[in-house]
Amino acid sequence: MKIPLVDLKRQYLGIKEEIDEAIASVIADTAFIGGKYVASFEEAFAAFCSAKHCIGVGNGTDAIYIALRALGITRGDEVITVANSFIATSEAIGMTGAKVVFIDCDPQSYNIDVGKLREAITERTKAIVPVHLYGMPANMPLIRQIADRHGIFIVEDAAQAHGAEIHGHRVGSFGHAACFSFFPGKNLGAYGDAGAIVTSDEKLARQCRMIANHGRIQKYDHSFEGVNSRLDALHAAILSVKLKHLEAWTEHRRAIASWYRNRLGSSHCVPPAETEGFRHVYHLYVVRVKNRDAAQAGLHERGIATGIHYPCPLPHLSAYSHLGHATGDFPVAEAFSKEILSLPIYPELTQAEVEYVCSNLEELASS
Ligand SMILES: *Cc1c(COP(=O)(O)O)cnc(C)c1O
Repeated sequence: MKIPLVDLKRQYLGIKEEIDEAIASVIADTAFIGGKYVASFEEAFAAFCSAKHCIGVGNGTDAIYIALRALGITRGDEVITVANSFIATSEAIGMTGAKVVFIDCDPQSYNIDVGKLREAITERTKAIVPVHLYGMPANMPLIRQIADRHGIFIVEDAAQAHGAEIHGHRVGSFGHAACFSFFPGKNLGAYGDAGAIVTSDEKLARQCRMIANHGRIQKYDHSFEGVNSRLDALHAAILSVKLKHLEAWTEHRRAIASWYRNRLGSSHCVPPAETEGFRHVYHLYVVRVKNRDAAQAGLHERGIATGIHYPCPLPHLSAYSHLGHATGDFPVAEAFSKEILSLPIYPELTQAEVEYVCSNLEELASS
């Protein structure tokens, strides 16, 4: 049996007619930039996130950069984020000119260790970018409490967490702004790069929209230099079709996660924790295995693709060598980076395929 890490083709084949029709309409209308397809997706996605406004942008990295810039983050400021994420999170902070301050992750949730947040805050701290890693919401109620006390902005990195919830509240509704990626492999994916910012602050929404569109209020009236980072109408039309299926897909992901959990609980792998009241949307299904590299190689030989998200904590990448971090500064992220293994997960994965992954992993994983 051959099992890829994600299978976008299966998803496309399931919704081919709707997608093909949506693409054909955009082309027939030659409505490529802005216009009704973008506006109607933005409206639907804001509602999906229980936010008032959605601004479509070019990708998820730009979404974080634009939201931070719209909040006034600039050179001389500090922005806190977590050591284990994709580089886009810290890169977007760097793009504003601000200094990124990393803190370790929590061993249960893999998300930012809120207990370490207070000690990382200085008088220069302007914002925190919590990441809802793998689809598991960060502890937003606690983060909000601390951020409010210190007058710090929150920009959620929700690139992996479309539809995740805490006590029935959607991610995207906790911070001053939240940023989503629609990279093809994300839970809601376009057919190329795309992203969005959601917020319920009207002024902030207007500022984001201006930055994303050359700093303009209307055509040829530019009040400052922005960037060109817009959601293409083709992607918007595709995303509108897919958004209608997203809840069902998320429920499938959660069912697959429960098959994995039931099957792997007694083996030498640590399945992801489920926190009461937190709705994990399983963008990735990440287990921990002591002999990770050998297990991964064995799975590969048996046709099972896996991933490592991520093999090196951000502060230890060459890109951040100027921060001068040493081994041991982020003990949890460092230890986990050697044990984590992302198993195949996508809504169309069958129970027989999950069984095949589990029986092989059980054989290969050792304590
Ligand atoms: C994918 C991702 C991003 C960036 O999104 P792009 O659309 O690829 O720019 C940011 N943060 C996290 C955690 C991601 O997984």
